[in-house]
Amino acid sequence: MHNGEVSYWWQARGGFPARRSSLPGPLEADVCIVGGGYTGLWTAYYLAGLRPGMRIVVLEAAFAGYGASGRNGGWVTSELPGSRAIYAKAAGGTAGVRALEAALRETVDEVGRVSAAESIDCDFVKGGRLSVATTQSQLARLRAGLAAAREWGDGNDVLEFLTGDETRARVNVANALGGLFAPASARIQPASLAAGIAAAAERRGVEIYEATPVSAITPAGAGGGLGGVGGVSGPGGLGGLGAVARTKFGDVRARSVLRCTEGYTSALPGQRRTLLPMSSHMIVTEPLPAEVWAEIGWGSCETLGDEAHAYMYAQRTADDRIALGGRGVPYRFGSAVDHLGETDQATVDSLTGVLRRMFPAAGDAAIAHAWCGVLGVPRDWCATVTYNAASGTGWAGGYTGVGVAASNLAGRTLADLVAGEPSPLTALPWVGHRSRTWEPEPARWAGVHGLYALYRLADRLESAGAPEGTVAVEGGKGGAAPSTRVRLGEALGHVGDAISGIPH
Ligand SMILES: Cc1cc2nc3c(=O)[nH]c(=O)nc-3n(C[C@H](O)[C@H](O)[C@H](O)COP(=O)(O)OP(=O)(O)OC[C@H]3O[C@@H](n4cnc5c(N)ncnc54)[C@H](O)[C@@H]3O)c2cc1C
Repeated sequence: MHNGEVSYWWQARGGFPARRSSLPGPLEADVCIVGGGYTGLWTAYYLAGLRPGMRIVVLEAAFAGYGASGRNGGWVTSELPGSRAIYAKAAGGTAGVRALEAALRETVDEVGRVSAAESIDCDFVKGGRLSVATTQSQLARLRAGLAAAREWGDGNDVLEFLTGDETRARVNVANALGGLFAPASARIQPASLAAGIAAAAERRGVEIYEATPVSAITPAGAGGGLGGVGGVSGPGGLGGLGAVARTKFGDVRARSVLRCTEGYTSALPGQRRTLLPMSSHMIVTEPLPAEVWAEIGWGSCETLGDEAHAYMYAQRTADDRIALGGRGVPYRFGSAVDHLGETDQATVDSLTGVLRRMFPAAGDAAIAHAWCGVLGVPRDWCATVTYNAASGTGWAGGYTGVGVAASNLAGRTLADLVAGEPSPLTALPWVGHRSRTWEPEPARWAGVHGLYALYRLADRLESAGAPEGTVAVEGGKGGAAPSTRVRLGEALGHVGDAISGIPH
């Protein structure tokens, strides 16, 4: 089994991409984007489309798509990165939340559209998202989620309840009691998308410098100004204004410097407690034979998840493997990040157990590769897109685990903000959103590890209480009365949600 090597997705493309050159030395630009993941690359791509004359540079510590963007589960999902209730506190109220949700659904198609238009071969298949319940407690959560969605106005076209039989007819998950199906979701090969956006941005004139870590970002007016140096395109050059991105190769001075560093943000000065780098881990099987697929189904390539507290996510890959992810070691002390995606054996074993439980037909499948990556989690689990024209700085991120579509929408929004083009996107409620900071260590480490220990216990209790063969009354509320263990599991799950603030 391969372990790390950034991700299976990169290795499936033949290994790491050819390295672009590092920053050649100090330079001036209109816009400097720090971080070459989806957020930075989409922002550069759309901004270059809006303002073709602008000099836009992307500074990337490793290579474009090195971070979560080249390692994720490949769900282009319209799920909201955060809580409706929190976003509803913004000026747009509930209408703003509905606009954000609609924009995220449209974004799934936008990713497909650009992939086609730019000839990005990223295995995009819009097969919808299927969330499966395999215990009575999960089924109850699934129903609660559906009821909340209905209260917010979502009809069957957005979210549809499936009985156990209907669920298994799509994907034959063992013990599936029911499911929720959302059409607005697509499956992709994540690294191919990252590589494709980078190339498309370059075709629009964007300069990408790799192996160029930024050590600090200094806003305009904080001693990093340009001292009257002009010469950059745009009205009046930089005219003494400008933010600075500092690197060992020299400074990049630009009217706008955008931080698109997501799970790696805490390494930048002043950002230690802004976003918590949460680890997510994945395994992928060897290609499965036709007889196994005949048993499992999954013909529409739905992105697949469950309703466990420590949930799993999966996809059927274009080369007929199952790629499955979930939480392992959730967080490293002091916001440390993994080395090239290497994953511990206990996490691999636990994810393999989930795979075998859900897909007995794949019980013999060998695990070909395991890896992990970090996603950025804000303290209130709600994402932000923000830009301050006076300081020339902005950032987007904090998508928690659902950033593939969200980063496209954020990139388009950041491009509009930097271009000074008010648009429906710049009025969405995550624009200018502020989350409080995370607790200092060791409270942060203890809190996250305690939370996931609680969630795992809650999942165990809930499953232990579901005797083999207990079947929900499909479409109704029935099923066996929950045992004390199940109730305890559910209660612990609620406690975890209350402590963490994780939205449902
Ligand atoms: C294992 C895993 C599975 C996931 N599955 C899904 C999924 O299926 N669907 C979904 O919607 N979301 C998923 N996510 C989340 C999603 O991948 C991210 O939200 C998204 O990729 C974020 O993109 P980004 O560009 O903001 O961050 P990243 O892709 O992490 O990019 C940040 C980049 O910034 C660079 N960088 C950091 N610091 C600096 C610096 N100081 N100087 C220069 N460069 C720097 C990094 O090297 C990195 O390339 C998953 C995440 C992980 C880790």
